[in-house]
Order: sequence, then structure tokens, then C-alpha cells
Amino acid sequence: MKSLVAALCLSLFTHYAQAVCDKNADKLIKAYPEHLVACENNAIVWRNGERQLYDDGKQKTFEQLLAQADIEDMFAFPYPVGVNSYNPPALNVDAGRIRNEEFFKRMYGATKSDVQDHLTTIKWLPKSDGETLKIQKTNDVAIKLEQVSKELDELPAELKKYVINTSGTFNWRVISGTDRLSNHSFAVAIDINTKYADYWQWAKGAYQYKNSIPHQIVEIFEKHGFIWGGKWYHYDTMHFEYRPELLI
Ligand SMILES: [Zn+2]
Repeated sequence: MKSLVAALCLSLFTHYAQAVCDKNADKLIKAYPEHLVACENNAIVWRNGERQLYDDGKQKTFEQLLAQADIEDMFAFPYPVGVNSYNPPALNVDAGRIRNEEFFKRMYGATKSDVQDHLTTIKWLPKSDGETLKIQKTNDVAIKLEQVSKELDELPAELKKYVINTSGTFNWRVISGTDRLSNHSFAVAIDINTKYADYWQWAKGAYQYKNSIPHQIVEIFEKHGFIWGGKWYHYDTMHFEYRPELLI
């Protein structure tokens, strides 16, 4: 009887496990072809043959999503695009802020020195005498950011002022007030000019969404695979990070 129950459980589990490689898993494979080959039996298969659990099947609170995200949870909130995507986000709707740290460590480097081995430099807004930035080579992130930079460089001065003095790309550090690594650690994020930025952790008093970054800038980044922290309930309007899976 015991073995019958075990067999039944196993078959149910297998059935469940096979069902969860969903359309979001397909987006990941499409977004990161350099690293991922497939989703099979509830596991993301990496190009080196290693497998990583896709969906742990657990129901999570918002805080648990932030702290214990599996890969599938990274799609918990769809990233909004289009004209209505600049409306203040609903409570806790943070598309892209839910991250499985192991996923990014495997892709970009598990330690500061691992990541440093995958960096290159680009000239930011070269026509406008911008600075030199360190950025991740993996997944062509540096090439994508260079494309962003070229387009930003063509903007009129009143728009360029938001992006010309950046506040950094690579910085191996945790997110303020947490023990979770920021995606700046993997050199796939950039903060634009803090002078015009709003960040929920800086705000005083009752919660109020704030932004002064023009949508033309956001759309250039999104076109090349970078999401914007200004579309988060926990807004961070200087922050862009390379997350093409959320823009497919
Ligand atoms: Zn940032």
C-alpha cells in the first residue's frame, strides 16, 4: 500500500512538475540564449548541463517573493509597456524587482571578482563628452547599453540633462536595508543623474509615487532590453537594468 501511495504521489508530482515550464520559461530561454537551452521537468537547463529548479510551487507573500524568489517568481508582476505604463503602480506592483539571486550569479558571476572578469568599458554619450562606464559583456549587455547611449546622445539638451551625469553601473553591493544583492553587483544596471531622481527610500511622510524622468528616455532603454525602476511601486526612477525576459 505504501509503495502504491508513493507511486501515485510520484506520478502526480511528475505530472505537476512537467506542467510548469510555462510561457514565461520560454521568454527566459529566448532572452538568454547564450546561457539557457531549455526548460524541462520544472528545471531551467543551463548550457553547461546544470539544472536549476524553475517553480518551487510555494504560495508567497510579497516579502517572501522578494526574499525567496524562485525563477518563476521573477514574472510575478508583468512589466507594463505602452502609454498607460507611466501611471503610478498599484500597491507592491514591482515588475522586475523580484529576483532569484542564484540565477543572476550563474549568468554574470557569483563573486565580485567573477563579475570583474566579465566587464568591459564603454564611452557614455560620446558626442556629449560623457564618462567611461564599466559594464557586463555577457549577453551583450555592453553592446545594448552602447546602443542606448547612441540614441540618448541624439536627444535635445533638455532631455540629455537627465542622463549625462550617471551615478554608476558596476557596484558589488546589497540593496539598501536588505541582505539581497543589487543588480548593480552584476554590472547589468545603471543609475542615471540622481539630481532628477526619486527613490521610495528617500521619501519622507506618507507614501506618494513620484517621478520626473521623461518617458522618451525610458522608451530608449526599454527598446534595448532595460527595464525601468520608475515603473515599480517601490519606485527608483534613476535605475535601469537589463531584463529582456520582461520585455518580450
Ligand atoms: Zn540602481
